[in-house]
Amino acid sequence: MRFLESCAIEEARKAVEAHISLKPQAERVVVEKALGRVLWRDVAAELDVPGFDRATMDGYAVRAEDTYDADETSPARLRRIGDVAAGVESPLEVGVGEAVAIATGAPVPKGANAVVKVEHTRELGEQVEVYRAVWPGENIAPAGEDISAGEVVARRGDVLTSPCLGLLTALGYEEVEVYRRPRVAVLSTGNELLQPGAVLQPGRIYDVNSPVLASLVRESGGEAVSLGIARDEMGEIRRMLRRAVGEFDILITSGGTSKGAGDLLAKAIATLGEPGVIVHGVRMKPGKPTVIGVVKGKPVFGLPGNPVSAVMAYQVFAAPMIRWLSGLGDSALRSMPAKAGVRLRSEAGRHEYLLVHILNTGSGAKVFPVPKGSGAISALAHADGYVEIPPGRDMVYEGENVEVKLLSGAELADLVFIGSHCLGVELLSKLLPYKLKTVYVGSTGGLSAVRKGLCDMAGVHLLHETGLYNLPFLNEGLALVKGYLREQGIMIQSGNPRGIEGLEDLVAKDVSFVTREPGSGTSLLLSHELARLGLDEGTAAPSMIVKSHTAAAAMVARGRADAAFGIKAAAARFDLDFIPVQTEEYDFIVPLNRLERRCVKDFIDLLGSERFRRELEALPGLRCSERTGRIIKA
Ligand code: AMP
Ligand code: MG
Repeated sequence: MRFLESCAIEEARKAVEAHISLKPQAERVVVEKALGRVLWRDVAAELDVPGFDRATMDGYAVRAEDTYDADETSPARLRRIGDVAAGVESPLEVGVGEAVAIATGAPVPKGANAVVKVEHTRELGEQVEVYRAVWPGENIAPAGEDISAGEVVARRGDVLTSPCLGLLTALGYEEVEVYRRPRVAVLSTGNELLQPGAVLQPGRIYDVNSPVLASLVRESGGEAVSLGIARDEMGEIRRMLRRAVGEFDILITSGGTSKGAGDLLAKAIATLGEPGVIVHGVRMKPGKPTVIGVVKGKPVFGLPGNPVSAVMAYQVFAAPMIRWLSGLGDSALRSMPAKAGVRLRSEAGRHEYLLVHILNTGSGAKVFPVPKGSGAISALAHADGYVEIPPGRDMVYEGENVEVKLLSGAELADLVFIGSHCLGVELLSKLLPYKLKTVYVGSTGGLSAVRKGLCDMAGVHLLHETGLYNLPFLNEGLALVKGYLREQGIMIQSGNPRGIEGLEDLVAKDVSFVTREPGSGTSLLLSHELARLGLDEGTAAPSMIVKSHTAAAAMVARGRADAAFGIKAAAARFDLDFIPVQTEEYDFIVPLNRLERRCVKDFIDLLGSERFRRELEALPGLRCSERTGRIIKA
């Protein structure tokens, strides 16, 4: 057994592979149920498809030579000797000057070498008039045209798509041999965990990892069964593991893998039999407290509880094994080249997996780290992918080439917004027929991003010392697209139990209040207003800082704070009372060279539309002005 922090990734993989006894296996499934399965062996056609010369039009089977002189004015006259329908082989033989009426899909009778379309004929009793010449082979699919016998139509390792299933059916297959999907049990451990649907009690959280890991297993080609939650209790964990080892090929657990008193996973694995724990601790980040054991030749992946760590450790260790067994192979994740948009830091000595946004800047795709602690499931949900930084490096320089592994479902945005959070932006995102990526980093962050050309638009509400909003911050190469007006002020609990009347009370009284991060337009506005009233900001130090207006309002609604400074629309969403302080201008800064982009134009048109005005003004404290949607160039 290796101890925490001692194992490099490759070393850990090899140690596990040396102990497992799993191998890919085949099984037969009916073709109709084989979508998405992986073909076990090459399939060669044993038949021609079609198996006979087949008419591709309704009309008359003829000898092409008999029609060569035919045209509108002097039709060829042929003698109709009978009919053939689809599905039957006709005993008729077409002789010189003869024709047989034929349906699409029917076998072409002997003697005929072309089919005249019915539109180019006229029937006159026993006679058929033909108004167009046909060439030999016209309107006939010769035997084997679609697939000819001997041709390899699908190969081992192909993922069966619906057309592939059609191909197999055309060749007469009822069943097909595919890779058996490894059966994978997923188990979450932790006393704090609750099943979704249960009432959330104080101190408890919902089990996020079970559905995330089970879905990842399915993406990797495995069959996942979620076993639910085990308490941090030795007997319970052992019981569930032992049962799962009997029934499944692979076990994936999360939680309880560190060295704390409640962390029982490694000990539980060790009691189940030889060789037991193979790896405990890997030099990766996140994912360091990963435990991997082998019991009865089957791997047990003990992933850390933190959802981001669990997903990364899954991708590194469990996914390649499941993909190998399911036949999907190690083309693990889709990836794309990009450049580092900023300097990326990593802890020396550890293999770092950094969640990133991909922004399509004027000069190619650039990556930026997702600005959130690794505890947040939202970091995973917002990230487009991740960048690996190997242990030998502690830094990737701005502008350096990187390879981004794309996370599942990553669909790159049509439009990128960086800037200040606002419910009006959420509304725009809802109404736009494009995928808009929103990165909320405050007004100052948005301004510096758009100056670097990192986004299509920055959303800002920056008050300048001249008393003007936003315009004074424009520099060359940028345009201001006028947005809308919004009321900023103090959000308080409904009924105002703390008797807050204005900004003075935030300073004078012993109130706890929430504001936004420094550099956000909202926090700058608050400082400005406090200074204007001659109030000392120092004594009004906010108790808490959050990254969105809705988060600020939620804190007050839950009684975590007495007041918050932010927009009225967020206060209204949480039924809070609101004391207006200032009406501000929320605008968009767009690089000039992006104004011509189709989706940027559509964005600006939407902003100026009647529909947007109507829906925006349904939100309290937000309204358009006569300048909304207007473009002002620097
Ligand atoms: P652990 O690895 O058990 O020390 O857990 C690390 C962190 O991840 C703790 O904050 C846990 O509450 C959290 N965590 C553990 N399991 C889960 C889970 N299934 N879903 C969401 N969070 C979890
Ligand atoms: Mg735990």
